[in-house]
Amino acid sequence: RMTHPVLTALGLGEQESGTYLGNGEWSATRDAGVLEPVNPTTGEVLGRVFASSRQDYETIVERAQAAFKVWRTTPAPKRGEAIRLCAEALRKHKDALGSLVALEMGKSKPEGDGEVQEMIDIGDFAVGLSRQLYGLTMHSERPGHRMYEQWHPLGLVGIISAFNFPVAVWSWNSFIAAVCGDISIWKPSPKTPLSAIASMKICNEALRAGGFPDIFFLFNDAGSELAQEFVDDHRIPLISFTGSTRVGRIVGERVARRMGRSLLELGGNNAIIVDPTADLKLAIPAIVFGAVGTAGQRCTTTRRLFVHESIYDEVLARLIAAYKQVEQKIGDPTDPRNLMGPLNSREAVQAYLDAIEKAKAAGGKVETGGAALDRPGFFVLPTIVTGLANDAAIVQQETFAPILYVMKYRELDEAIEMQNAVPQGLSSAIFTQNLKAAEKFLSAAGSDCGIANVNIGTSGAEIGGAFGGEKETGGGRESGSDAWKAYMRRQTNTINYSDALPLAQGIKFDL
Ligand code: NAD
Repeated sequence: RMTHPVLTALGLGEQESGTYLGNGEWSATRDAGVLEPVNPTTGEVLGRVFASSRQDYETIVERAQAAFKVWRTTPAPKRGEAIRLCAEALRKHKDALGSLVALEMGKSKPEGDGEVQEMIDIGDFAVGLSRQLYGLTMHSERPGHRMYEQWHPLGLVGIISAFNFPVAVWSWNSFIAAVCGDISIWKPSPKTPLSAIASMKICNEALRAGGFPDIFFLFNDAGSELAQEFVDDHRIPLISFTGSTRVGRIVGERVARRMGRSLLELGGNNAIIVDPTADLKLAIPAIVFGAVGTAGQRCTTTRRLFVHESIYDEVLARLIAAYKQVEQKIGDPTDPRNLMGPLNSREAVQAYLDAIEKAKAAGGKVETGGAALDRPGFFVLPTIVTGLANDAAIVQQETFAPILYVMKYRELDEAIEMQNAVPQGLSSAIFTQNLKAAEKFLSAAGSDCGIANVNIGTSGAEIGGAFGGEKETGGGRESGSDAWKAYMRRQTNTINYSDALPLAQGIKFDL
């Protein structure tokens, strides 16, 4: 079999080790299982990745612990310089890595490139952050005393990532962790190991060329045994997990049992509200991009739409027309002319078909789409379903596919209530030109999500803000703002420079 040219462009072969052990060394383990990532456009195996052994994992953790002893006392701005080199290297390889993400995950080429751009952006953010890891100072209640807090590196950060953002999620975690003084160990999705290997090669080669030590390690798990040991490993103070609510719940419980920290980025069930004043020039493309972008496989994908009854018919008709246009541009995601690629796996196609059956059985009407395409690969039609209530079981679930449930509303309060009435709490949006409606949506009595937007859709967040959601989305925050604090430990310091020992709260203890 020929190695795919996209792999060759990144120096990858048809067989790769899935384990980066540090010291420029990739493991020689060949007997711990093999991952076979599939090209979702054709259904063909793209390459073979050798999974990691328990011994590999031990080597990684031991080397990471040794690396942490050096890295934690390396000045933070110097740590920032390491990430600056990574971002520079990613700029050089953006086109090739973006193509690999499109090839292996199945998102469109502009979305694959956009994911690499996010890595570059968070890299730049981390460089600036490396000079801004600020703590507060407090005024002591005691004379001659000074109080302040400082942020220290946490240690080893475990990153477990999902298939749908195979490279960006790692960089959101590892680049911020690195400037915070931590060493990170990555276990990527078994569906996208090649994108992970390529990212590691690009960044680790840049670090070595710049004279920096190993701060990023990688292992791949043939099943989920090593991943579970990773989650239970008390040597890893923070596990940052991105994936389904089902697995995230297990991870959160296990990490809590050993009193570790977890950062959970789980499923969403995101909605857009379109009020009677909405500018449909903005709303229609935002809904279509939100619902069919990445073939509905974003955690922030728009899955529910609440339209005011006065404009419901018009909005539905315009959406159906737009969906018919998207249908003409479904195909190989590495071809930039296509708007929508395949689902990532055969199981995802089955989950899509099952959801449509359930929607129909519950009384839903398929307005457009509703079928898989009869061609190689895992292609489906983007789908709109009407006639279901928000509390229908299938509407309450996250089906990781391009299915949009469209519902009518009369009063804004009712729309906000429905938007909040799901187990998940990731992203939400309102399209309105009414200031009162916008402010109500953003108020304490408005959206209960981690992300709430006005006149912008639910997906496509910028790295500058803290990213994450509430309820069954897990509560974690990553990326910008002060999300870096999750990767450090806070220490409160009180210094007495007086000649007395006054106790706090005025307590007397006379010896
Ligand atoms: P998944 O839960 O199936 O897998 C996620 C990761 O967990 C993979 O690396 C997998 O190998 C690993 N894993 C599986 N079992 C494990 C176990 N017992 N212990 C430890 N790790 C284990 O998710 P997926 O299908 O890859 O991704 C899609 C899901 O991810 C969707 O629900 C989506 O909403 C969510 N997601 C959320 C965000 C966010 O930021 N909130 C971002 C991207 C994806």
